[in-house]
Amino acid sequence: MMKKKAIIVGSGIAGIAAAIRLNNAGYAVSVYEANSYPGGKLAEINLNGYRFDAGPSLFTMPEQVEELFQLCGYDPKQYFSYDKLEVNCHYFYEDGLHLKAFADQDKFIQEVTSKTNESEASLRKLLSNSKHLYDILADLFMYKSLHRWRTFFNKKAFKSYLNIFSLDFFRTMHQANTDFLKDPRIVQLFNRYATYNGSNPYKTPATLNIIPHLEFGKGAFFPKKGMHDITMSLYRLALDIGVEFQFDARVDKILIEDRKAVGARVDGIVFNADIVVSNMDIVNTYKKLLTDVKQPDLLLNQPKSSSALIFYWGITCSFGQLDLHNIFFSKDYAREFDCIFNEKTITEDPTVYINITSKMKPDDAPEGHENWFTMINVPNNSGQDWDSLITEARENIIKKLNRLLKTDISTHIVCEQILDPRSIESKTSSSLGALYGNSSNNKYAAFLRHANFSRKIDGLYFCGGSVHPGGGIPLSLLSAKIMAEQI
Ligand code: FAD
Repeated sequence: MMKKKAIIVGSGIAGIAAAIRLNNAGYAVSVYEANSYPGGKLAEINLNGYRFDAGPSLFTMPEQVEELFQLCGYDPKQYFSYDKLEVNCHYFYEDGLHLKAFADQDKFIQEVTSKTNESEASLRKLLSNSKHLYDILADLFMYKSLHRWRTFFNKKAFKSYLNIFSLDFFRTMHQANTDFLKDPRIVQLFNRYATYNGSNPYKTPATLNIIPHLEFGKGAFFPKKGMHDITMSLYRLALDIGVEFQFDARVDKILIEDRKAVGARVDGIVFNADIVVSNMDIVNTYKKLLTDVKQPDLLLNQPKSSSALIFYWGITCSFGQLDLHNIFFSKDYAREFDCIFNEKTITEDPTVYINITSKMKPDDAPEGHENWFTMINVPNNSGQDWDSLITEARENIIKKLNRLLKTDISTHIVCEQILDPRSIESKTSSSLGALYGNSSNNKYAAFLRHANFSRKIDGLYFCGGSVHPGGGIPLSLLSAKIMAEQI
């Protein structure tokens, strides 16, 4: 019997996961990818002997990657291996405080209480609240379609309704954290979790305090071959099971006949299919590939998440006090988010995030050198004068690092490449260069993401960070799972 045919638009991490799942469900799957490489945001950069993970650096919920191997009858360990981090992140403050966020909760609490005025009881209360949120909400909001009635009529969903007042929809993340904690530096540490989906802790509901549990409860990890290996190991799996990939192949139209998706046009050539799955950002899927279809304006016009400005630096020496993940906090976090979300600019004193994979994987840099992925959160692209903002930001970042690391970092930078909201948009078709699709700056945001299927067009499906359940690697992988369950 002829296999049914599925076309996937884009080979982001969700596109690859969707390809694996549909192949497994018996479809002949072809993936069309505009770039010359797979992975979208989860790509890598090689520069003068230094290797950099181009986008994501924090890896949580590795079981979502492993599940894809298991689904195909493979042992994940043969393809993909990773280590659990003992210290999730090093936090540096302007007053000289340096905190290690140990993954082990007791060690983390000991670290914080010994170096600040925060109490053990408050930290335990905050972490157990995060776990409570995860236990009640994860099944409903992360693992299921929010666009099917059956999601809301089952035992687990009813349990969530019974706990509705403890789900913290009505305070902001910042309000909840200031209620739990007394040291503003620790409030800042926990407010930072809003950036995990590109949101503003002063606006996003305290329900998002579910995120710390992912790190402190379930753990943060690092793939032994770097973050890019998440893409490459899944890409290899997809090839091994017979998925076909076409690179440098931009889809310019999804073909619809009688309210049914029947194929895609790729650089002018028509390919037929029984179903089409778009892994392209949902806004651009509608604006560029579904121009004849009524646009779901309410969903498409939701405010987008923040973006990022990244300097990939080859550094000629090694810094003993730094580790894989390092954060240099801004003095005024409220001001930083005001700049990003309201003024659409970059504060003079941004929080600087430095990820150094050569600490875990020494061959990512020449001996005695380091590869610095130096990132700040920035507004998404609304046509700002990025060239001058980047020049200013670079000076401010270097000034801050010199102050906190007591060095002149500029003398150690031997090579540089830059990624900014414009290039994120042009390389991945992400609307406005947002990292995570819509922001979660209001309590209805989870319900205002596009479903993983079209109600109007049969055979048309969606996956990726811009649709339900949201952005980030684990949620993007889950979007492919929820999508496949609808077929
Ligand atoms: P994308 O990666 O957006 O890829 C979409 C693909 O579709 C691209 O390859 C694109 O070329 C292709 N495409 C688009 N249109 C077409 C078309 N018309 N025809 C053919 N192909 C097309 N997540 C984390 O979990 N942890 C982190 O630490 C983290 N940090 C991040 C830092 C940065 C700088 C960035 C950019 C992202 C970060 N993220 C992080 C978010 C994470 O990378 C994304 O949520 C996730 O990778 C999105 O995957 P996706 O499947 O939606 O596709």
